[in-house]
Amino acid sequence: MYLVGAGVGELTIIDYDTVNLTDLHRQLLYREEDVGKPKVEVAARRLHDINSTVKLRPVNEALTSENAEEIIKDADVVVDALDNWMSRQVLNEAIVKLRKPPLVHGAVNGWYGQVSTIIPGKTPCLYELVQVRSLPPQCVGYCPVVGPVVGVVASIEATEVIKLITGIGEPLINKLLIIDGKNWVIDEIKLSRVENCPVCSRYLKEK
Ligand SMILES: [Zn+2]
Repeated sequence: MYLVGAGVGELTIIDYDTVNLTDLHRQLLYREEDVGKPKVEVAARRLHDINSTVKLRPVNEALTSENAEEIIKDADVVVDALDNWMSRQVLNEAIVKLRKPPLVHGAVNGWYGQVSTIIPGKTPCLYELVQVRSLPPQCVGYCPVVGPVVGVVASIEATEVIKLITGIGEPLINKLLIIDGKNWVIDEIKLSRVENCPVCSRYLKEK
């Protein structure tokens, strides 16, 4: 919503899912009446109402190792708003293999969130980031995602995209921002490359 409001030019949205009642507390584009409808179609309609000058490309598919490269190859920036690490690794492999574009990573678990910006071939990739630090205090069992924490993470990710596009400010490169919404503590962890990362060593000849 922020990126479309900012007028990013062209936005591709990838999701194979339909709107669920349990999405509504954190996915503010959707309404009760949208339950059961394809997410990308509803999202494109609502986003068009925010800024009709942005070209929207809804892709009603799952992101897989078969289609990832084709979908992202012409993008200037990719935003990870995924809900699972398997799809994130698919996305990571695609950007490392293509050596572009920058990836703004975000994840939320319960009250906690994290954001980092990855420049493939230059900064630790998503695989390395997971080795350095997995999601904040791992909650065991049922960990409902707190809606406003998703909003905070999404806002930080959108800010990263605006910084990357405009070249203004310092993106979270080689840094992982950790957001603890329960106690309102925001921490920054410095990231460094992991030796012999299996993803980078497979696709990048020199680091
Ligand atoms: Zn790597």
